[in-house]
Amino acid sequence: MLVMFVKATPDNNTYSDRIFSSIGTTVPHTPPLIVRMRTDSVNPGKLGFDGHYCYNAGSCSTSWLETFVIKDFIGMANLNGNVMERIVALCKRRGFVFQSSEIYGGINGFWDYGPLGVELKRNLKDAWWLDMVRNPPLGPDGREFQMVGLDCSIIMHPQVWKCSGHYDLFSDMMVDCQKCKSRFRHDQLYVWEVRSGLEDDPQSKLIGYLATMGNDDDALADVQARARKLSKKISGGRLLDQWQAESIIAYRTRCNNNTDLVRCPSCDEQGSFTTPREFNLMLESHAGPIKDEDNRVFLRPETAQGIFVNFKNVIDTCRVKLPFGIAQMGKSFRNEITPRNFTFRSREFEQMEIEFFCHPSESNRWYEFWRDVRFNWYTSLGLKSAKLRLREHDKDELSHYSCGTSDIEYAFPFLADGDFGELEGVAHRGDFDLRSHMEGKLVNKDGKLVPDLGPDGKPKWKGSGKDLTYFDDERKERFTPHVVEPSAGADRATLAVICEAYTVDESRPSPELMRFHPRLAPIKAAVFPLVAKDGMPEIAEPIYRDIRKRWPAQYDAKQSIGKRYARMDEAGTPFCFTIDGQTKEDGTVTVRDRDTGAQERIDKSRVSEYLAAKLNV
Ligand SMILES: [Zn+2]
Repeated sequence: MLVMFVKATPDNNTYSDRIFSSIGTTVPHTPPLIVRMRTDSVNPGKLGFDGHYCYNAGSCSTSWLETFVIKDFIGMANLNGNVMERIVALCKRRGFVFQSSEIYGGINGFWDYGPLGVELKRNLKDAWWLDMVRNPPLGPDGREFQMVGLDCSIIMHPQVWKCSGHYDLFSDMMVDCQKCKSRFRHDQLYVWEVRSGLEDDPQSKLIGYLATMGNDDDALADVQARARKLSKKISGGRLLDQWQAESIIAYRTRCNNNTDLVRCPSCDEQGSFTTPREFNLMLESHAGPIKDEDNRVFLRPETAQGIFVNFKNVIDTCRVKLPFGIAQMGKSFRNEITPRNFTFRSREFEQMEIEFFCHPSESNRWYEFWRDVRFNWYTSLGLKSAKLRLREHDKDELSHYSCGTSDIEYAFPFLADGDFGELEGVAHRGDFDLRSHMEGKLVNKDGKLVPDLGPDGKPKWKGSGKDLTYFDDERKERFTPHVVEPSAGADRATLAVICEAYTVDESRPSPELMRFHPRLAPIKAAVFPLVAKDGMPEIAEPIYRDIRKRWPAQYDAKQSIGKRYARMDEAGTPFCFTIDGQTKEDGTVTVRDRDTGAQERIDKSRVSEYLAAKLNV
């Protein structure tokens, strides 16, 4: 029998509304109210409702229940199709992730980690630091290599971003639709003139100018569909079979910058475009009291550049020898035009990046090494399903400086079937970055990286001029090291871990549970006295205090044991220890496994030892 709880409280309205509307009814938003529904065992797949299972706490009236008509429970299918909504709801309900500044309505593209989320994300970052920096694997030749860490400032010298290319390449001319607030890259917009009437008809009527993103077949199909709709509305006549796009830049020139007749690609509103404005993805601020160009600074869009500009410091102070890596984790910022998909595309996010420096002749081997090490790291943390994949970029996808790039991708539930989202990019970057900070911003000219020159023939953005080459004692050779960069997103990895852990098991009293890998679980163990009397708390509390010296643990003496287990299942706690009547007689406690629900008894003195073995730490 399937049992499902739906909680209708003000903080959970969207979730409950959707479930209830899918079975053709609505729920009054009077808190707190808990409804339990079950499947009809006679008609599998249909949901029944049992009034006896309705809990009504407080002043809420139950009268609506009498008119509650259960229809076919198509909702279950809807629920399966909306896994992401359920995950987001669980994240909110259990304190994994909150919207930033929620009491003020939230702010788009920013998220807060709650009490469980902060532990989960910290465990993930700690695992990365331990496995990559303090205890890295052996190299492809079976030998040790060195890894060191850095923690650089978020605001750096503005020249860093000019030489890295972010200042130029990160900026686009953008156009906004004032109606639907969509934002488009100006150079990607095309305009189609649409007329009705017959060929060569001087009386043919202008229907409108339709804008599209791009001018390919998809754009043509889109513009034809929109034109048909529009012609019915405006002229009722047939369309002139003339489908020619011109770039909006050419259109503006021709029409003296007047776009009053152009219709938005998203909402079809006429004349809703703003004039093009420069838009850089770097968030900016001003350092010091005066807000002028000289004091303009940027919040770093990646942690990598802090590593490159400290390359010489590390070489000079740490006695590191090539090959070696420098790691950094920390916040980065990108002023994303359309933040979306929960924490996947945020404006403030946390990165875990490694820049691995090696001799040019060995860089391909190290690239393959890191690609595989990084992929296996995710599987070691429980991302084992077919949702994880490694994708090598095609040659035409590579950045102009890259000799090879792989993405480690995850099929997040918010994506269409068959689509994957990037968790981490592993890139072979050659000597691009170190050379940029020596010589100035580089561009690709006839397959070679050369300084980008301004109109005066001098480098557009001057480099530091510092020597960032490396002298190899054994080879007796000076060279600019090549770089392999595994660049991971801590928030994306956390989100993937949440999505992978999220499990619906309808055979359980509480069907939603989080099967976190024990290393990542925010709470490793919970301790319950079966009842908060009869001497049980006196036994349970010392056990709890003993566990929490080593692992995050929770003590819970309230409510039925089933509810306490359910709470821990949702938090992803791998083990629960219960002190009951038998404990006083023979000194044993029950330990319940989250994934199997199986219980066994162990001596209370063995709890820490048991956990250490099971958690493998
Ligand atoms: Zn629009």
